[in-house]
Amino acid sequence: MKTHHNNALRIEHVGERVVLTGFVARRRDLGNLVFIDLRDGEGITQLAFDSDNPLKDKASAIKSEYVLRAEGVVRERSSKNPDLPSGDIELDVDALDVLNTAKQPPMLIRDETDALEETRLRHRYLDLRRPRLQALMKLRHSITAATREFLNQEGFLEFETPILTKSTPEGARDYIVPSRLHKHSFYALPQSPQLFKQLLMSAGFERYYQIARCFRDEDLRSDRQPEFTQIDIEMSFIDQEAVLDLTERLVAHIMKATRGIEVKTPFPRIPYHEALSRYGTDKPDTRFGLELVDLSDVFAQTDFKVFHSVLESDGRIKAINVEGGAARFSRKDIEKDLTSEVAKYGAKGLLFLRAEAEGLKGPAAKFFTEEELTATAARMEAGEGDLLLFVADRVQTVNAALGHLRNVLAGKLDLIDADTFDYTWIVEWPLFEYDEDEGRYLALHHPFTRFPEKELDTLKEDPAAVGAFGYDLVAQGQELAGGSLRIHNAEMQREVFRALGIEEARQQERFGFLLEALEYGTPPHGGIAFGLDRFVMMLGKTDNIRDVIPFPKTQSGHCLLTGAPGDVDASQLNELGLKKDKHEK
Ligand code: ASP
Repeated sequence: MKTHHNNALRIEHVGERVVLTGFVARRRDLGNLVFIDLRDGEGITQLAFDSDNPLKDKASAIKSEYVLRAEGVVRERSSKNPDLPSGDIELDVDALDVLNTAKQPPMLIRDETDALEETRLRHRYLDLRRPRLQALMKLRHSITAATREFLNQEGFLEFETPILTKSTPEGARDYIVPSRLHKHSFYALPQSPQLFKQLLMSAGFERYYQIARCFRDEDLRSDRQPEFTQIDIEMSFIDQEAVLDLTERLVAHIMKATRGIEVKTPFPRIPYHEALSRYGTDKPDTRFGLELVDLSDVFAQTDFKVFHSVLESDGRIKAINVEGGAARFSRKDIEKDLTSEVAKYGAKGLLFLRAEAEGLKGPAAKFFTEEELTATAARMEAGEGDLLLFVADRVQTVNAALGHLRNVLAGKLDLIDADTFDYTWIVEWPLFEYDEDEGRYLALHHPFTRFPEKELDTLKEDPAAVGAFGYDLVAQGQELAGGSLRIHNAEMQREVFRALGIEEARQQERFGFLLEALEYGTPPHGGIAFGLDRFVMMLGKTDNIRDVIPFPKTQSGHCLLTGAPGDVDASQLNELGLKKDKHEK
């Protein structure tokens, strides 16, 4: 139907006869002249109808979002538009077909639309016509295309694993689907293809990948969706180095193919415990400093009650040095804004000192001895004009609060370069973490993560002390990918289930098929999975996950376009052998 898209014609095409198609972005009627901006996924070209053009009246009746096919000759514009790539030319139209009309759209279809997100999601097909979203969908495609290109070349096979399946635990709640043929039995939607990819290794496929949809029924946060996509990878006969190396080359390939950016490999590595101690988090943003410094030993003998009682109960005192921050943050900024930031993570207070020529000063200085102040200044490398911010609490609280404050400060001080991709591996993860609330051990990655065989005894005595072959890739303060080497020995797998408090019968019922496969000669294997949506967000520079998913759900899990989740007919429920709760409306 057309010869060019709407971002193809330039001054050198002047005089050529062309055919264009697209949506009407805008019509301007200047009385004797009519202009139409014709838009498609590539851009905009101006259609022109002069006063003596017999199509002028037809053009004047055309409205926004009508679908047109226009034929004519390219000519140089008399007034050029430097903001538009095709702004030097226009089409002198001599044939015009209205392929479809359109109702008045409920929103402005432009990047700088003023529409509420609710309107945009309800009419997502209109929202998606906006150039920004068109570009993000293309970026998403380029990333998956580059992924496939790279992995195919590396000898990986692309697989599809079941959507209707049994629970695959990744630490979230399952979505469940009732079976009609087997009443009162349920499928679960996969939280990840984890067990299937491991079974494919057992089946002798040494290199697997999948652009896989995953489903997790969690309380939604603004950066989460109930269904999301992973680039999921698994390999046999490899060690950890092989997975990290492949991942680095994949990232480098994607960055080059989609953004033309050369990334430096190998990526730096930070052990898990070091990340927590220096940054307060296992997903540090390493684009700026403001590292956490432990001062607990400096205050070991302190008379200051607050610090003393924290240290007595095994807590920690840590601080951040905000270089030159003394002039930037007033006492009120610190006591109100910054304190409320640390309070979000449970810290009961934020103490501060300012570095002056004569030493550390501030309302809190009176609580400390000269020696403590001098030692603090030295440890914090405080220079005149610096601001020191302290939190004293349980170690988890200190890390969470100061880790968050670090990011807040970097934002306020404009320390973050959005164009830097600080790919970093977090390595040497513990296998388990003790969950105080649940009163039991939980797997930090998942229960299929391998650890050195010699730590089997430690597992029985002190599960939290076992170090696992796990790794996460972080960038810009986000977890981009996570993976591990897997257990390929049935006995080791049973030990882990036991340590997690999963009894024999339950192990058999839930994971019998995996344990059995491990008994039939499964090779050593491991892998990794990338959060594709997050990767697109990072490369596309958006912090809204709904910008990178064509048909996303709201934060409350609704699809405003289709109205899902919705009611079902009584007859459907009947067939499934299900009944609505009497008390529900
Ligand atoms: N299945 C894991 C996840 O979804 C990733 C992996 O270990 O490969 O987080």
